[in-house]
Amino acid sequence: MAPFAGSIGAPAVLTFLVEEIPEGGLEWSQEMPPEWVDPLLGPQFRRDGHPIVLEVSITRRGRNVVVQGRLTGSLAYVCSRCAGDATREVDHAFSHVFVSRSHHPAFPDDLDAPGEAEFTFYDGHEVRVEPVVAEEFVLSMPWFPVCSESCRGLCPHCGQNLNEGTCSCEADVVDPRWAPLLNLKRTR
Ligand SMILES: [Zn+2]
Ligand SMILES: [Zn+2]
Repeated sequence: MAPFAGSIGAPAVLTFLVEEIPEGGLEWSQEMPPEWVDPLLGPQFRRDGHPIVLEVSITRRGRNVVVQGRLTGSLAYVCSRCAGDATREVDHAFSHVFVSRSHHPAFPDDLDAPGEAEFTFYDGHEVRVEPVVAEEFVLSMPWFPVCSESCRGLCPHCGQNLNEGTCSCEADVVDPRWAPLLNLKRTR
């Protein structure tokens, strides 16, 4: 594989003229810049100091363009249940096929595509890979990330982190240390 000529696409662009994709395809890896990563992060996620790395190969099958990519790295996040800080490995592989609308008005049956690939029609001569990578990155993050599947969360009454210990709310007995807080809540 020819090494990717970095000048073709600044990370946030990743747009390719189909005719210019060489016979052997393109293959490279790059760190995605923080200004690309940050707007895509869900509200509970943030960068943890490690880069998000994109490895990608782009090959042409006639007028169709096959993109195979993998995003790796790690992210910090706040657990949806206990509000504790946690980190999460990112390792998300994807395949995507751009199908030329003008050359293939019907679904191509000659397509040698990897299984589980997503399909997108494109018009004209350019394929825009960046939106696909962005979508896949967003899909790699769960809506409600938890620090562990067995996380017990916070007591909805007293806020006790139930991973760290039990509270007495279930027994409907108020810990005397919390009583002033409960009274505060009631008077609000
Ligand atoms: Zn948790
Ligand atoms: Zn409680």
